[in-house]
Amino acid sequence: MGILEGKVVVVTGAGGGIGRAEALLLAEEGARVVVNDLGGARDGVGVGDAAANKVVAEIRAAGGEAIANFDTVATLEGAQRIIASAVEAFGRLDVLINNAGILRDKSLLKLTEELWDSVIAVHLKGTFLCTQAAAKQLIAQGEGGRIVNTTSVSGMLGNFGQANYAAAKAGVYGLTRTAAIELQKHRITVNALAPIAKTRMTDDLPMFQGIDTLTPEHIAPAALFLASPLCADRTGHVLAVSGSRMYAYKVVESKGKFKDGNEVWTASEIAANWDAIAKV
Ligand code: NAD
Repeated sequence: MGILEGKVVVVTGAGGGIGRAEALLLAEEGARVVVNDLGGARDGVGVGDAAANKVVAEIRAAGGEAIANFDTVATLEGAQRIIASAVEAFGRLDVLINNAGILRDKSLLKLTEELWDSVIAVHLKGTFLCTQAAAKQLIAQGEGGRIVNTTSVSGMLGNFGQANYAAAKAGVYGLTRTAAIELQKHRITVNALAPIAKTRMTDDLPMFQGIDTLTPEHIAPAALFLASPLCADRTGHVLAVSGSRMYAYKVVESKGKFKDGNEVWTASEIAANWDAIAKV
C-alpha cells in the first residue's frame, strides 16, 4: 500500500518539469491527483490543455487516478476553481503542492513593472490564493492536511538578474512560515521545497550543460515526504534538494549585543561593533 493511499492531492503547474515528477510519484503512492497546468510557455505567455492532459494520461496508464485542470493559480477565481475541482472529482482534499511558476529574468535596472507584476502574480499571489482556498477546505473537513510550497535558492540567497523571481520566492518563504504558525492548530503542516533540477526553466543555464544528474525525479521524493504522514510533526521548514543532496535553509538571528545601561546606539558605535552584533 502506498503512503498516500486514499489521499487527494492538487499539484499546480504539474504539466511538466518538477510538478509532473511530483504528480507521477504521488499517484504511484496511491494519491488521486488533480494535475493543474495553465499550459503556457516558460515566460507564462499562452495557454493550452496538452501539458496537463498528457500527465493525466501517464498517471492513468500506470494504473493511477487523476484529472486535469487548466486554471491559472494567479487569480482568485482560478485558485478557487483548482481546489473545487479536487472536491468535485474526488470528494475531498488532503494535500496542496504549490509548484506553478514562470521565469522572466532581467537585471534590476532593466526590470519593467510588467515583468515584476507577472512573476509576483504567479509565484507569490498564486501561492497565497491556492493556499487560502486549500486551507479553508482542509479546515472544513477537520482532519488536518499538508501544504507544500516551492521556493528557490534565488529567494533564499539572491541571484543576479532575478530581482522579481527572488522577491517572489522570498515572499513564498515568509508566507510558508506564517501559514505554518496559523494553521498548526488545525493539524495542517506548511513547508517549502527549494529544488534545483534541469527543466525547461533551467536547461539553458551554464550549470546544467552536460549534466543529467539533477533531475525532477530527484525532487519528487522530497515533495512526497512533505505531503505524507511522515511529516506530521514538521512544519515551517525549507527542504532543499539538488540531485542526491538533501539539505535545509534556515534564517538565523544572531545573539546580538546590548549596550550598557540600555542606552541608544549611535551609528558609529554600530559600525565599530558590527562583528559582535552580527555574529551567529
Ligand atoms: P517548468 O516551467 O517546467 O514548470 C512550471 C509549470 O508551471 C509549467 O508547466 C507551467 O505551464 C506552469 N504554470 C506557469 N504559470 C502557471 C499558472 N499561472 N497557473 C498554473 N500553472 C502555471 O519549471 P520547473 O523547473 O519544473 O519549476 C517548478 C517550480 O520549481 C517553480 O515554482 C520554479 O520556480 C521552482 N524552482 C525550480 C528550480 C529548478 O532548478 N528547476 C529551482 C528553484 C525553484
